[in-house]
Amino acid sequence: MALFGTNGVRGVANVDMTAEVAMNLAKSIGTFRRGRIAVGRDTRHSGDMLKNAVIAGLLSTGCPVIDLGIAPTPCIQYYVKRHADAGIVITASHNPPEYNGIKGIAGDGTEMSRQDEAAVEQIYYSGAFRKADWSETGRVSTADPKPEYIDGITALVDAAAIQGRHFTVVADPGCGAASVTTPFLLRGLGCRVITLNAQVDGTFPGRNPEPTGNEINDLKAAVRTAKADLGIAHDADADRAVFIDDRGRFVNEDVLLALMTRYRLQQKPGIIVTPVSSSSLIEDIARQYDGEVIWTMVGSIHVARKMMEVGAVFGGEGNGGLIFPEFQHCRDGGMSAASMLEMLAKTGRKLSDLVDALPSYCSVKEKIRCPDKDAVLREIAAAVRSEKVDLTDGIKVYRPDGWVLIRASGTEPIVRVFAESRTDAGARKLADYGVGLVNDHNK
Ligand code: MG
Repeated sequence: MALFGTNGVRGVANVDMTAEVAMNLAKSIGTFRRGRIAVGRDTRHSGDMLKNAVIAGLLSTGCPVIDLGIAPTPCIQYYVKRHADAGIVITASHNPPEYNGIKGIAGDGTEMSRQDEAAVEQIYYSGAFRKADWSETGRVSTADPKPEYIDGITALVDAAAIQGRHFTVVADPGCGAASVTTPFLLRGLGCRVITLNAQVDGTFPGRNPEPTGNEINDLKAAVRTAKADLGIAHDADADRAVFIDDRGRFVNEDVLLALMTRYRLQQKPGIIVTPVSSSSLIEDIARQYDGEVIWTMVGSIHVARKMMEVGAVFGGEGNGGLIFPEFQHCRDGGMSAASMLEMLAKTGRKLSDLVDALPSYCSVKEKIRCPDKDAVLREIAAAVRSEKVDLTDGIKVYRPDGWVLIRASGTEPIVRVFAESRTDAGARKLADYGVGLVNDHNK
């Protein structure tokens, strides 16, 4: 059984994500990666239980532990990069409150690589944990990673330009980890900050941790009522940020990625890295501003590692996960928020104007139950050989008016079909074509 999914190990607390699993996983990581290990968590109710199990596991292998308490995942990653040999984050990101998970962080602050995860997994199943002598069991110290993270972000953006605009911003951390960072970051940047769901509460009473357009209706209303310049929402571990414009409208994440791509390319032409599932808008923008797009497999780790490999100027996913390489090679909701403010300050434009000036694309998403998904995808790949296809991740078929991406789910017996075109009818037609391909081979 594969322990690690796309985003570390996840499950329902005390059902599959138990204290025993957490401790053995920590023992495996401590056996694999000796040294000082920083441990932090999001605000989930089960976070205390799992954090203490993780710490006990690490200490038993002889690793000293730095307990960072509650902090956003990128804040913990930034701390690891500067002060520790590795890290463990206890979070289930955008999943509902009953979930929790464990994510390994490499010494350079990036997500643990797939190879390292495989090595840890092997130790986990073999049970061959290092057991330190009584006098060499680890000790725990504590540290507060937040001030350095906030200062680090503030130093990288044009703080004076942002401060000069006195923006009114409504921040909705969803009672997640950004409750302890984003409001303070924004205030430091001279914003008048109104908060919503900014009390630390792992039951997530205000909204679901996933900040989709429908989940953050309160934020939209608050932005309109306060006549704010911007609304910001995060998922529970705040590696992602999504935005509400000054007219109270949700900014589609692909549009966000495109706006930020353009802003970054205007400052520094270069390579942009994004998964094959991202909008063609990114390519349109890159072409216009001397950029080059490299498409990767879906998953932020693939984006981050490719960015490091090619020295990209910017990258990100179409879900609000943006990566600013001069800060760190991971998705960073705090950095996204500050960069958005810098873009508004330096362009002098309202976010609604910037959004409306972009060409728009339409997309359609479908999912089909498909127990033999890998065989079906192989057959489809053979069937579309004469078309223009990209096999980076699943099968992406390009047509003159758009594209359709057919991908197997990593965890469920499902094939996803994702189509994009300039019109709704065009996207529908491409999605139907993709669904037809799956059904033809799904026997
Ligand atoms: Mg997240």
